[in-house]
Amino acid sequence: MQGHLSPFTIPAGAITIHIARRPRAPTAAMRVPLAADVTGDVLRRDLAGPFPLCQADDMRKYVIMGIQGSGKGTQAKMLAADLDLVHISVGDIFRWNVQNHTKIGAQVRRVMAAGELVGDDLVESVVRDRLTQHDWNFGFIIDGFPRDTRQAEFFLESYDIDGVIELDLPDSEVRRRVLNRRLCADCGMDYNLIANSPKVPGQCDMCGGELITREDDTEGALAIRLRDYHNQTNPVLAIFRRKEYVYTVDARPSPEVIQLQIRERLGLPPYKG
Ligand code: AMP
Repeated sequence: MQGHLSPFTIPAGAITIHIARRPRAPTAAMRVPLAADVTGDVLRRDLAGPFPLCQADDMRKYVIMGIQGSGKGTQAKMLAADLDLVHISVGDIFRWNVQNHTKIGAQVRRVMAAGELVGDDLVESVVRDRLTQHDWNFGFIIDGFPRDTRQAEFFLESYDIDGVIELDLPDSEVRRRVLNRRLCADCGMDYNLIANSPKVPGQCDMCGGELITREDDTEGALAIRLRDYHNQTNPVLAIFRRKEYVYTVDARPSPEVIQLQIRERLGLPPYKG
């Protein structure tokens, strides 16, 4: 079942719960109270104390970067499930906070809906909190971070990384994908109305939930996100390139082909699925 584990994390109490189910999009890392009713088969709980638990010899620490709609989340989940890495998506953490009306959610909601970037101080504290849980015994793959040079410098000062995967996608394809993206309001499964539409329109194949459009998947918000990506995130890639970390992969083929390419580039064993 290892190939189908997806980590659900409780930053407040530092308990990581791996739940056996198909990976889902928006809630790879969740901020929930300890007593929350988390459904699913609990396979493992790691209590993180003051000392790092991250001791595996084969630990891997990756960053995945790419423009909106390039499939970062999908590829990160495939890699994480197969290699037992913790998938950390900063966008997912923020979305969870918005959905659950937390203080952080209130701080970021409008910024996110407009397609703008959240301030560096808050982003860095969310990432720091998440990584200091030290539940990533076999490593992590971080998605959606760093997004600008300040975040990149903060990250490189604190962590050694093994590689940066860059998913390369032309802007025209980004627009086509993002404007056709739908999300299940209940389980978070991602759909694309062009390549991966649900069997029943507007309804999730997995749980029957309603399919919704992400608040920031609009023409206006997308234009801002594309602009920010090119202006702010490309310099991050330049910093990583200088350190020879970056593996660029074409994000146009199917998810399985992209995964194959990523693994070849990183020298990893083939995808078990
Ligand atoms: P994503 O799911 O990665 O597209 O992120 C969704 C939104 O969360 C972004 O449009 C930003 O508003 C916010 N966000 C996620 N990661 C970052 C980051 N590293 N820096 C600033 N804002 C972020």
